Amino acid sequence: MCPADVSDDSLVCDLGALDMADTFSKSDRSQIMRSVRSIGTGAERKCEKILRTLGIRFHENSNRLPGRPDFVLSEVGVALFVHGCFWHSHRGCKRSALPKSNRDYWEEKMARNRRRDRRVRDKLRRSGWRTAVIWECKLGDTASVSRRLAKLCQPVSRGKKLG
Ligand SMILES: [Zn+2]
Repeated sequence: MCPADVSDDSLVCDLGALDMADTFSKSDRSQIMRSVRSIGTGAERKCEKILRTLGIRFHENSNRLPGRPDFVLSEVGVALFVHGCFWHSHRGCKRSALPKSNRDYWEEKMARNRRRDRRVRDKLRRSGWRTAVIWECKLGDTASVSRRLAKLCQPVSRGKKLG
């Protein structure tokens, strides 16, 4: 079974695939499981805490939007994703390094994930949402993530009045 707190469809599928694949080395597997665990629990909870501290209102895991964003900030029209560096191929990040074995498998899988992320973003933007990604590895620096989120929500709260 998948952990209940893994909220991303892609992760659920990926976990399913991992269960069946016994070909991975022990170190590959533990690297993968580490990346998976951290996103379901720590990263999203950290982001949630920052949003609360900033007083930003949000819904979690909206099924009604493409890609099921981790947080939906409807008042400011932002769909926010907390992305695990491994599964979403954070460019230039050491956490996104692929396992050494089964290289082709991983490269293809990650290319597929990247395409899906892009499709989701495009869909959301076409229906008027702004999209933002918080990378798992950046959440260590709470202050900087807070600044970014505050800025993201600024134009509407300060700018033109609604109605
Ligand atoms: Zn990263």
